[in-house]
Amino acid sequence: PDIILEVKNLKKYFDTPKGTLHAVDDINFSIEKGKTLGLVGESGCGKSTTGRVILRLLEATDGEIIYKGNNIRNLSASKMRELRKEMQIIFQDPFSSLDPRMTVSEIIEEPIKLNKLIIDKKKRFDRVLELMDLVGLSRRLMNTYPHELDGGRRQRIGIARALALDTKFIICDEPVSALDVSIQAQILNLLKDLQKKLALTYVFITHDLSVVNHFSDDIAVMYLGKLVEKAPAKDLFDNPIHPYTKALLSAIPRPTLDNDDEMIILKGEITSPINPKENCRFANRCNYAESVCMDKEPKLIEVSKGHFVSCHIFNK
Ligand code: SF4
Ligand code: MG
Repeated sequence: PDIILEVKNLKKYFDTPKGTLHAVDDINFSIEKGKTLGLVGESGCGKSTTGRVILRLLEATDGEIIYKGNNIRNLSASKMRELRKEMQIIFQDPFSSLDPRMTVSEIIEEPIKLNKLIIDKKKRFDRVLELMDLVGLSRRLMNTYPHELDGGRRQRIGIARALALDTKFIICDEPVSALDVSIQAQILNLLKDLQKKLALTYVFITHDLSVVNHFSDDIAVMYLGKLVEKAPAKDLFDNPIHPYTKALLSAIPRPTLDNDDEMIILKGEITSPINPKENCRFANRCNYAESVCMDKEPKLIEVSKGHFVSCHIFNK
């Protein structure tokens, strides 16, 4: 397989007055070129931090980020700037990342201008029009301002901007979570089409497993800075193994579920990510916890081909 990104033993810790916050705590995964990895978990599990660390918007505490064979943690700032032309991010709320004083065409043009990608003004303008067509933004909106547009159109501007350079790889951080359900589907379809057309690779970050179901090739589930389960999407949905994944999945209404498959209500508080103990971080909320779960940290183990689980009890 043609691996575009590999993350090895990645850690991101933050010093806080109360101790060390383990936001991302020794995670491993890889993504094939042209595929989507869904990165799923509740808010605060470290998924957004992971996305930012991969792009070096935040510096990792430890580990390797290997993009096309190079550990990009070793790149100089200028080399990293060069690489960022192909590694981009789409945010949940494009509004806060779009300059309210700039028109739609100016916003899309800006990265092309800043990176001196197209110097000729007329050619640059043609490229802006091409990008607007590509993301399904009517050319009539060229001279409007972001606040005049609805959330779906604003997200299309965010996507056009992310595609303006030589983009190959995109971190999509909750790109549809702020949108109405009807518009969510449009934006997901657009992202899917663009992926095919441009051979893009995505890391798709979301708290909502139902969003990544038909969208991801593989899904990785995070809990308190750890990967607890990782599998091909269908495998994860049909045969979830980790108790936390099961609980997440049980919260999604699905017509195929039997009537006796009840929603699993998680009890207990999320453990603090500050100075965490060396045990299973899900133990205080898990219905299956045994003493080993309190004493020892489970390792991520491959239980069937491509299906990894981190659990003392369900890893056979
Ligand atoms: Fe539950 Fe133990 Fe598995 Fe953790 S290791 S998920 S506490 S059974
Ligand atoms: Mg987030």
